[in-house]
Amino acid sequence: MHIIIIGGGIAGLGAAYKVRRAADEGHDVTFMLVERDDRIGGKICTDIVECPDGGRIIADGGSDSFLTDKTAVHRVAKLLGVFEEETGTNDETKKTFIVKGGKLIEMPDGMMMFAPTKLVPLATSTLYSWPAKFRMALDWFIPRKVRWAEGETAQQHDETLESLVVRRLGREALDRLAEPLAAGVNGDEPDKMSVAARYPMLLDMEQKHGSLIRGFLAQRKKVEEMRKKYPPKPGQKRRTMFSSFNEGLQFICDRMADAAGREHIRTGVGASAIARDDDGWTVTLTTGETLRGDAVVVATEVWAAAELTAPVDAALADVLGTIPCSSSATAILAFREDDCPFDLKWHGILSPMVEKRPLTGVTLMSSKWPNRAPEGTVLFRGFLGGPRDEAVLEASDEDLLELARTQMVALLGIKADARPRYAKLFRWEKGMPQYTLNHLDRVDEIERLEAEIAGFALAGNAYRGVGVPNALESGERAVSKVLSEAGITLVEDAMEEKRVY
Ligand SMILES: Cc1cc2nc3c(=O)[nH]c(=O)nc-3n(C[C@H](O)[C@H](O)[C@H](O)COP(=O)(O)OP(=O)(O)OC[C@H]3O[C@@H](n4cnc5c(N)ncnc54)[C@H](O)[C@@H]3O)c2cc1C
Repeated sequence: MHIIIIGGGIAGLGAAYKVRRAADEGHDVTFMLVERDDRIGGKICTDIVECPDGGRIIADGGSDSFLTDKTAVHRVAKLLGVFEEETGTNDETKKTFIVKGGKLIEMPDGMMMFAPTKLVPLATSTLYSWPAKFRMALDWFIPRKVRWAEGETAQQHDETLESLVVRRLGREALDRLAEPLAAGVNGDEPDKMSVAARYPMLLDMEQKHGSLIRGFLAQRKKVEEMRKKYPPKPGQKRRTMFSSFNEGLQFICDRMADAAGREHIRTGVGASAIARDDDGWTVTLTTGETLRGDAVVVATEVWAAAELTAPVDAALADVLGTIPCSSSATAILAFREDDCPFDLKWHGILSPMVEKRPLTGVTLMSSKWPNRAPEGTVLFRGFLGGPRDEAVLEASDEDLLELARTQMVALLGIKADARPRYAKLFRWEKGMPQYTLNHLDRVDEIERLEAEIAGFALAGNAYRGVGVPNALESGERAVSKVLSEAGITLVEDAMEEKRVY
């Protein structure tokens, strides 16, 4: 069986490496992956630069991390023998600031997402007004919106993030923290974002505990109990909320490509059409060549998947076309430490929409991760654009880098005349899928239609999770779908317990 994989992001690579493992299990399966860009990795893109005076800058222009709790990347890293290359964040410097009135206010201790779980830090913080603090505390007493019937889940009770946060914690809780968290991290719009798709546990918490604050307190207690019950073993890897690799996130993409077989991966050539006939599939490439396969895995962005799928199944393409994507850019800038006369022990800054700043957030990469910049160099990553301000992206790369620099000067206190030692802009046009209200219903429909097309599968971050591990797993699942349709069951799929981390 020959599988054509379209798209060389982590989803496509997850698919390719899965085919390789199927072949290693003894099945007669091969693949060819085509990637439109000149490089593999998609939204994972690490730029490594040797500095003239020694050391290296390791700059992740797209994703910089993945959630440690999600197992897919660890599992694959272990299979590849590179698990030891994983690194956690520097949690001694784990502080987040929120912009308020142009000043930086530290996120109060005890905030879990946007819900307060510690009284004194909330009371003494200047992030919120007093009426807002009282309003947040009311979450403890406000009854559930509705009690779910037996068997119902968050999907049947979806609502937007704005609706949930405003009704439970009040408007200021949304404007000051929930909105910048959603927009700054995932480019989501709170008045459109589906809670059931992005954070179903919030709706579950309201059902179970009757309050978000009580839900988060219960969650914290559980984590503390688990930590006591299972203390870290000597020599065990430090476990932080986010993980990456010593050489940046691109590392895992490269190792997956190596293991899958670079000779089966073509970059710089896209798929322009796919067609099905009685004998299988034809994929026409941008070069005019055609590839023949028994199955096709479309692991592109969802808008590209909609275009490719239209001639095969117009109804499926229509549903794919209803998933919007937002554009953004990241500006990575490195300065001399002497040019940064302020506290350099923090991870991030979030700038709420109400602050009306073009920079939605800043990550201090050299503090968040070990070894991202040489001694004496400070590495920042600024976020621009997103749904709240896509117009800003019309500016040139130079102008956007200068905009990010001047914003960092104003916000952080970098010396006004400081010139960056390294500056690079990464553009992500229509790069982030938006999980809008009732997203899960759309994905159910997509999966129903996809199941009816033998030898065809979709993969990527637009369906059941935007994170790197979700995307990786979606590629693996896509391969399992087309293989099982051909009567091939993999031993690793039959293994019930895949959790190895
Ligand atoms: C700025 C930014 C920051 C992010 N940060 C994080 C983070 O820190 N942690 C996290 O978990 N997630 C993050 N994400 C999301 C995460 O990057 C993605 O979920 C994941 O990497 C997406 O992988 P993918 O394979 O689904 O898609 P992509 O990486 O988008 O790959 C799709 C590939 O398909 C190719 N393609 C498209 N059309 C064609 C065609 N016709 N023919 C051939 N190839 C084609 C594209 O060129 C692309 O390489 C971030 C996303 C962005 C945009």
